[in-house]
Amino acid sequence: EIRFISKLLNIKINSSVVFTIRIIRSWCDIKFKCFFFFFNNGTNYQDLLHEMTGQKTVPSVFINKKHIGGCDNTMKAHKDGILQKLLGEGSEVYEYDLIVIGGGSGGLACSKEAAALGKKVMVLDYVVPTPKGTTWGLGGTCVNVGCIPKKLMHQTGLLGTAIEDARKFVTHNWETMRTAVNNYIGSLNWGYRVSLRDKNVNYVNAYAEFVEPHKIKATNKRGKEMFYTAAKFVLATGERPRYLGVPGDKEYCITSDDLFSLPYCPGKTLVVGASYVALECGGFLAGLGLDVTVMVRSILLRGFDQDMANRAGDYMETHGVKFLRKFVPTKIEQLEAGTPGRLKVTAKSTESDEIFEGEYNTVLIAVGRDACTGKIGLDKAGVKVNAKNGKIPVNDEEQTSVPHIYAIGDILEGKWELTPVAIQAGKLLARRLYAGASLKCDYVNVPTTVFTPMEYGSCGYPEEKAVEIYGQENLEVYHSLFWPLEFTVPGRDNNRCYAKIICNKLDNVRHIFTTMEVTKSSGGDITQSGC
Ligand code: FAD
Ligand code: NDP
Repeated sequence: EIRFISKLLNIKINSSVVFTIRIIRSWCDIKFKCFFFFFNNGTNYQDLLHEMTGQKTVPSVFINKKHIGGCDNTMKAHKDGILQKLLGEGSEVYEYDLIVIGGGSGGLACSKEAAALGKKVMVLDYVVPTPKGTTWGLGGTCVNVGCIPKKLMHQTGLLGTAIEDARKFVTHNWETMRTAVNNYIGSLNWGYRVSLRDKNVNYVNAYAEFVEPHKIKATNKRGKEMFYTAAKFVLATGERPRYLGVPGDKEYCITSDDLFSLPYCPGKTLVVGASYVALECGGFLAGLGLDVTVMVRSILLRGFDQDMANRAGDYMETHGVKFLRKFVPTKIEQLEAGTPGRLKVTAKSTESDEIFEGEYNTVLIAVGRDACTGKIGLDKAGVKVNAKNGKIPVNDEEQTSVPHIYAIGDILEGKWELTPVAIQAGKLLARRLYAGASLKCDYVNVPTTVFTPMEYGSCGYPEEKAVEIYGQENLEVYHSLFWPLEFTVPGRDNNRCYAKIICNKLDNVRHIFTTMEVTKSSGGDITQSGC
């Protein structure tokens, strides 16, 4: 585009002009493959441009040799989707809007959805018999020769492996497990470096902080400082575990950052906290046969559906985890050094004057995580941060208060702190910035799973929140106890698993769940006699 304009206007584009163009692009935050024409001297050019376009002012935007206009017109064209069309391919006329080849899970869902949206769709499905002549009907592999039959057989295999694993856990120990886990992590670290190199990403192992809006200082482990500049930045510094701020916490306690590489078995463990990290770590430590107590300040899994959270808690309790509810630690003292040593924990009730004292080998603090935003020079770049929690507010395009600086992942204010969310936000952001895409990350409909021994998956609003938003009278809750397929043959935990769907009465979403017929409001029996 620059070359086209320069040829058209017979001017020589030098690097300072290109640089100015880049600054204007970044200033205006235009995210497509277009360039602004800018000139810093020469009324001749201005006249010529005026003659060509009828526009006197700059910036003057051309896309594929078509004049769009100034900044406002460009923004409007983007809003109206005209820019995207100009940047995209021309569309042609076909017989069908969509042809789907294969009527399995995806093909059927896709073809049905597309047709429901008014598209002209074809789906083709045909099963070629195997050499032995086996064949089956519509529905594809999953239903006929895949997921469903496989899952039942896989479970049989898993049980066999688990018995083998159990023998290894007995004969091996924490150190063996930790070494194996850490060796695997080491191989992943190496893999990431290789993949950065393969993709021509320059990897620098150094701590970064802003010194100017477009400039950072990077300090490596030997204290060597380097400076780098860029047009745009993405902040993705993540979080680190928070401590309690009581005597002895940093001296004697560990966090999840230590646990996975702890060189010795933690022994009798107190886990402080009652959310994801606390329940998951408490759960697997108990699963390894350790004596585990979880100290809960208020409720389990704040922000989650409390009915579900308490069911997960009950399950943990029946599988050996102790809960000490409504207590917070006030002091941790060392009784004896060692690997592990012995610690004395003093805690106070959040509801009364009651004091608790207990002895543990390890205290694992899991009371939340703090965003790593305090020491990266955001003030020098002008990025606004929520002073209360260190989180960064962004708009729906992950843009901070400084237009050329974006943020993703755990450091965002009010967003999920989950790996796939961070990955998705990062990918989409890059596509919007550099590929003309417009898709934004969906932060509402995010599925998540808490791996307490009983896995709890959820997506959408908790019941309490749904009531608050839509009103009880507009909701219908379908629920059911159920027996997972893999529990059936060993006859384990029948009617302990539970599912519910909270529906806005306008929605038909529940119809895909064939076993959910009983509404909560009806008070009907939800026990199941089969899977
Ligand atoms: P991070 O992955 O934390 O990456 C940030 C990186 O930036 C770090 O390497 C950090 O050292 C580095 N950094 C920080 N400051 C600087 C600086 N100034 N200069 C250079 N580098 C810097 N999520 C799930 O979806 N599923 C799970 O099962 C799950 N389990 C979890 C279990 C535990 C115990 C914990 C703690 C978290 C878990 N999460 C899980 C959450 C998940 O790990 C995070 O949501 C995710 O890693 C966030 O990615 P991020 O890119 O924002 O930050
Ligand atoms: P959270 O912020 O989710 O929870 C903090 C917990 O600690 C709450 O139970 C809170 O209780 C309690 N707490 C806070 N301060 C104190 C205190 N002073 N004394 C006692 N208890 C206290 O933090 P997590 O570290 O568990 O998780 C961080 C994030 O990591 C999660 O939001 C999640 O997104 C991600 N993660 C995801 C996983 C997954 O996908 N499976 C697994 C692990 C982490 P209260 O309710 O009273 O405030």
